Amino acid sequence: MGKGNKMETKLLHTPYAKPDVYNALSMPVYHSAAYEFESAEAMELAFAGKTAEHTYSRITNPTVQHFEDRVKTLTGAFSVTALNSGMAAITNAIFTLAKAGANIVTSKHLFGNTYSFFASTLAAFGVETRFCDLTNLSKLESSIDENTCAVFLEIITNPQMEVVDLNAIAAIAHKKNVPVVADTTIIPFCAFNAKNFGIDIEVVSSTKYISGGATSLGGLIVDYASFNWLASPKLHTIAKDFGNAAFTVKLRKEIHRNLGAYMTPHAAYMQTLGLETLDLRFEKASKNCMKLVQLVESHKKVESVNYTGLPTNKYYQLSKSQFGEYPGAMFTLNLESREACFKFLNNLKIIKRATNLFDNKSLAIHPASTIFGSFTPEVRSEMNVSDKTIRISVGLESVEDLFQDISDALR
Ligand SMILES: *Cc1c(COP(=O)(O)O)cnc(C)c1O
Repeated sequence: MGKGNKMETKLLHTPYAKPDVYNALSMPVYHSAAYEFESAEAMELAFAGKTAEHTYSRITNPTVQHFEDRVKTLTGAFSVTALNSGMAAITNAIFTLAKAGANIVTSKHLFGNTYSFFASTLAAFGVETRFCDLTNLSKLESSIDENTCAVFLEIITNPQMEVVDLNAIAAIAHKKNVPVVADTTIIPFCAFNAKNFGIDIEVVSSTKYISGGATSLGGLIVDYASFNWLASPKLHTIAKDFGNAAFTVKLRKEIHRNLGAYMTPHAAYMQTLGLETLDLRFEKASKNCMKLVQLVESHKKVESVNYTGLPTNKYYQLSKSQFGEYPGAMFTLNLESREACFKFLNNLKIIKRATNLFDNKSLAIHPASTIFGSFTPEVRSEMNVSDKTIRISVGLESVEDLFQDISDALR
């Protein structure tokens, strides 16, 4: 393969680590827990990481590794680790950086389970989370101190659809010697290059766009080796030996191995197929979303729509500069009340009542009563999750049919 090949070509032709004995064109699914060795010496070398042989599928697996290699091709990252869910990616990345006494600076505008992980799970281990308004750069700066181990953010928050200035946040974090960890699930690799915006560690729920139609759960940790870990409260010692690779070494040689949440080979097989059509599906779904938003916006029963691709949206310019013309295939709409939202959901015939995002089918949910249902009304209000909001993930159907479904359901 030539060096000058375009990304579409490179992705499809990422070489296998070893040629298949039968010349299989698709990566075989290696459903094996363990791998045999010819000698005790070879085994010792493999366990010491001195050869690249697989030993046990909780650590590495050929099918999963090929999926990781494809993501490496797409992102140009230093290392990619595949996990069995987006939450596993987030928790493994944070456990690699955090220790008791350290703190994380983030926003209250987070995916519900991520918020709960920071506010409850991590707090119980003595890691403080400082929730601040990341659109307020001076708040961000004053929240960071010498014990801050990461600034964590989502590139477009859900369901608030808030967009932060990534370059500005990265500049402040890096000035203070703190890495930026970003959940980029909402815009796939083909439309957003995290490295160009100063993101050091990218975490993704590959359950969403990548899985290829909600086939499987998955998560990714993408390390750009862009951060000097000598400044990290936890990684500074191993950074003396491993430099900018310290995060990946800590993750792969300890955290990921001990937490045991590696991706399964079957999920990796399906998500590799998903990656091959990611570009095409994203283009269709995000264009569908834009057209649908324009139609829904003028419906008299809809109080407002929230999509950062609309020129009237307050984040439009920033969103366009970071994510391009089509900022994803998710939008929200507000109706007059919670009751109106429930009635609307119950009337839908084509759009499915379901959680999840970026299935090939369109999905609708009332976030306040579901994903955020276990929070108190006070916490929901601090998180700006309104009772009047419906979230729609737009799929690959005809836009005319989707708008008809929405119009009929509003009647
Ligand atoms: C779905 C989602 C997650 C969690 O991913 P899972 O694969 O469900 O564990 C995290 N962040 C965002 C933005 C998500 O949409």
